[in-house]
Amino acid sequence: AQAFLDVRDLRIHFKTDDGVVKAVDGLTFQLERGETLGIVGESGSGKSVTSLGILGLHRRGSAKISGEVWLDGEELIGASPERVRTLRGAKMSMIFQDPLTAMHPYYTVGKQIIEAYRVHHKVGKADARRRAVEMLDRVGIPQPQKRVDDYPHQFSGGMRQRAMIAMSLVNNPQLLIADEPTTALDVTVQAQILDLIRDLQAEYNSAVIIITHDLGVVAELADDILVMYGGKAVEHASAQDVFRRPEHPYAWGLLSSMPRVDREVRDRLVPIKGNPPSLINLPSGCSFHPRCPYVERNGIPCKTVEPTLAEGTAEHGVACHIPPAERLAIFKSDIAPS
Ligand code: SF4
Ligand code: MG
Repeated sequence: AQAFLDVRDLRIHFKTDDGVVKAVDGLTFQLERGETLGIVGESGSGKSVTSLGILGLHRRGSAKISGEVWLDGEELIGASPERVRTLRGAKMSMIFQDPLTAMHPYYTVGKQIIEAYRVHHKVGKADARRRAVEMLDRVGIPQPQKRVDDYPHQFSGGMRQRAMIAMSLVNNPQLLIADEPTTALDVTVQAQILDLIRDLQAEYNSAVIIITHDLGVVAELADDILVMYGGKAVEHASAQDVFRRPEHPYAWGLLSSMPRVDREVRDRLVPIKGNPPSLINLPSGCSFHPRCPYVERNGIPCKTVEPTLAEGTAEHGVACHIPPAERLAIFKSDIAPS
């Protein structure tokens, strides 16, 4: 049977004056309801554009988008913008990093949640208002009957994030995409928001995609992790495998910037030097090669041949020319000696 969310060879390219930006270039993954996928990478790796593409929010005019996105058996790339707009909000929705991207400053929080609900439900204002209060309560806003009439700027950053989550969830979406949902928040509030997303997911049995530059954010939340680099997936595996036995040199670098890795391991990790590649002019061969400490090791053709995301070990896809057994050996000796 087809997965609830089935993304096949998704490509999102933008024409600019400087050339074609290949923001997403051949991405394939599946996700079931009740599961969480973490999409991890530096800024400019294509992870946010991926989510906008799935939700039909990319800039349609300048973007060339191809591939297939199946949601619950319905293909979205070829669907009309009207159809995608109907599904967005009803069946899928998005939590943004900055609540003010999603919330209008001139309307009360309650009015915005009520509107989001009434677009998809034929209910009167009183019922919709009850629903808004219920959602604010559900996401942990104190005194929701009173706060429902506040404007976004009257909320603290963390409360505003909760209010936006309430708005995103008011129609019980089956697919929820959260793009850097906690980046702007302090550590305590971050943990609360992540707990909240987990609770709501369990309650609604949604499929959740969390997009982040910080592996720590998805450490406890994700079932699977997809590591993106230069618009492509370079490693895709269960979260357990990505944390315990990652195989791509870029993933090793990401681990090194994770504060929750224990100290002894972290001290031995080498942070990734250099900058993310230009999506207009990717380096030849493996696009990570200018930054990779293992480039051309034992004469492997990193600079000329592009590695593909072959299944290294079962269910563990890695785009790197180093043979799987050797990658694990390097990880154990150089990265995480125990
Ligand atoms: Fe490094 Fe080569 Fe593997 Fe790319 S293919 S990650 S350059 S070892
Ligand atoms: Mg982004």
